[in-house]
Amino acid sequence: MHPQLEVLLQIQDLKAQKRELEEAGGGRQVQEEQFKLDVPAALEALDGKIEELEGDLDPPVRRRYERMASGITRVVAPAINGTCYGCFVSVATSVASDRSERNSLRSCDNCGRFLYFVS
Ligand SMILES: [Zn+2]
Repeated sequence: MHPQLEVLLQIQDLKAQKRELEEAGGGRQVQEEQFKLDVPAALEALDGKIEELEGDLDPPVRRRYERMASGITRVVAPAINGTCYGCFVSVATSVASDRSERNSLRSCDNCGRFLYFVS
Protein backbone atom coordinates (compact mmCIF):
# COMPACT_ATOMS: atom_id res chain seq x y z
CA MET A 1 0.00 0.00 0.00
CA HIS A 2 1.10 3.53 -0.75
CA PRO A 3 2.59 5.04 2.43
CA GLN A 4 0.53 8.22 2.08
CA LEU A 5 -2.60 6.13 1.83
CA GLU A 6 -1.74 4.42 5.10
CA VAL A 7 -1.46 7.83 6.75
CA LEU A 8 -4.80 8.89 5.25
CA LEU A 9 -6.46 5.72 6.49
CA GLN A 10 -5.11 6.28 9.98
CA ILE A 11 -6.39 9.86 9.99
CA GLN A 12 -9.78 8.64 8.80
CA ASP A 13 -9.92 6.04 11.55
CA LEU A 14 -8.88 8.48 14.26
CA LYS A 15 -11.54 10.91 13.10
CA ALA A 16 -14.18 8.17 13.19
CA GLN A 17 -13.05 7.33 16.72
CA LYS A 18 -13.30 10.98 17.65
CA ARG A 19 -16.86 11.24 16.34
CA GLU A 20 -17.85 8.17 18.35
CA LEU A 21 -16.30 9.61 21.47
CA GLU A 22 -17.98 12.95 20.97
CA GLU A 23 -21.34 11.24 20.62
CA ALA A 24 -20.72 9.05 23.64
CA GLY A 25 -19.45 11.99 25.68
CA GLY A 26 -22.49 14.08 24.86
CA GLY A 27 -25.25 11.60 25.52
CA ARG A 28 -23.97 8.74 27.60
CA GLN A 29 -22.33 9.94 30.76
CA VAL A 30 -22.79 6.47 32.21
CA GLN A 31 -20.23 5.07 29.82
CA GLU A 32 -17.72 7.64 30.88
CA GLU A 33 -18.18 6.72 34.54
CA GLN A 34 -18.12 3.00 33.84
CA PHE A 35 -14.92 2.99 31.87
CA LYS A 36 -13.26 5.83 33.74
CA LEU A 37 -12.63 7.51 30.44
CA ASP A 38 -11.73 11.14 30.50
CA VAL A 39 -13.47 12.13 27.27
CA PRO A 40 -12.01 15.65 26.87
CA ALA A 41 -8.51 14.30 27.45
CA ALA A 42 -9.10 11.45 25.03
CA LEU A 43 -10.38 13.88 22.39
CA GLU A 44 -7.35 16.05 22.89
CA ALA A 45 -5.06 13.07 22.44
CA LEU A 46 -6.88 12.14 19.22
CA ASP A 47 -6.65 15.70 17.92
CA GLY A 48 -2.94 15.77 18.61
CA LYS A 49 -2.42 12.50 16.76
CA ILE A 50 -4.55 13.62 13.81
CA GLU A 51 -2.56 16.83 13.52
CA GLU A 52 0.69 14.90 13.69
CA LEU A 53 -0.43 12.54 10.93
CA GLU A 54 -1.66 15.42 8.77
CA GLY A 55 1.84 16.78 9.03
CA ASP A 56 3.13 13.55 7.45
CA LEU A 57 1.13 14.14 4.28
CA ASP A 58 2.91 15.45 1.22
CA PRO A 59 1.79 19.03 0.44
CA PRO A 60 -0.24 18.16 -2.71
CA VAL A 61 -1.91 15.23 -0.92
CA ARG A 62 -2.60 17.35 2.10
CA ARG A 63 -4.19 20.10 0.01
CA ARG A 64 -6.47 17.58 -1.68
CA TYR A 65 -7.26 15.96 1.65
CA GLU A 66 -8.13 19.30 3.27
CA ARG A 67 -10.39 20.30 0.40
CA MET A 68 -12.32 17.09 0.87
CA ALA A 69 -12.17 16.77 4.63
CA SER A 70 -14.46 19.75 5.14
CA GLY A 71 -17.37 18.13 3.32
CA ILE A 72 -16.78 14.36 3.41
CA THR A 73 -16.30 12.19 6.48
CA ARG A 74 -14.59 9.38 4.59
CA VAL A 75 -11.81 10.76 2.40
CA VAL A 76 -10.52 7.29 1.57
CA ALA A 77 -12.82 4.80 -0.12
CA PRO A 78 -12.28 1.19 -1.13
CA ALA A 79 -12.43 0.27 -4.79
CA ILE A 80 -13.84 -3.22 -5.18
CA ASN A 81 -14.06 -4.90 -8.57
CA GLY A 82 -13.21 -1.59 -10.19
CA THR A 83 -15.95 0.36 -8.45
CA CYS A 84 -15.33 3.29 -6.13
CA TYR A 85 -17.34 2.62 -2.97
CA GLY A 86 -17.41 6.30 -2.14
CA CYS A 87 -19.68 7.17 -5.06
CA PHE A 88 -20.30 3.78 -6.76
CA VAL A 89 -18.93 4.86 -10.08
CA SER A 90 -16.59 2.48 -11.84
CA VAL A 91 -12.96 3.50 -12.03
CA ALA A 92 -10.86 2.58 -15.04
CA THR A 93 -10.06 -1.08 -14.48
CA SER A 94 -7.20 -1.14 -16.95
CA VAL A 95 -5.47 1.37 -14.75
CA ALA A 96 -6.66 -0.27 -11.54
CA SER A 97 -5.17 -3.64 -12.40
CA ASP A 98 -1.80 -2.24 -13.36
CA ARG A 99 0.65 -3.17 -10.66
CA SER A 100 2.62 0.05 -10.59
CA GLU A 101 -0.60 2.05 -10.57
CA ARG A 102 -1.85 0.02 -7.63
CA ASN A 103 1.15 1.15 -5.66
CA SER A 104 0.68 4.78 -6.52
CA LEU A 105 -1.74 7.07 -4.77
CA ARG A 106 -4.93 7.13 -6.80
CA SER A 107 -8.13 9.01 -6.37
CA CYS A 108 -11.57 8.65 -7.89
CA ASP A 109 -12.16 10.82 -10.96
CA ASN A 110 -15.78 11.26 -10.02
CA CYS A 111 -15.83 12.04 -6.28
CA GLY A 112 -12.16 12.78 -5.64
CA ARG A 113 -11.80 10.34 -2.74
CA PHE A 114 -8.48 8.59 -2.34
CA LEU A 115 -8.85 4.97 -3.33
CA TYR A 116 -7.46 1.75 -2.03
CA PHE A 117 -7.95 -1.31 -4.10
CA VAL A 118 -9.39 -4.38 -2.47
CA SER A 119 -8.82 -7.52 -4.47
ZN1 LIG B 1 -15.78 7.92 -6.25
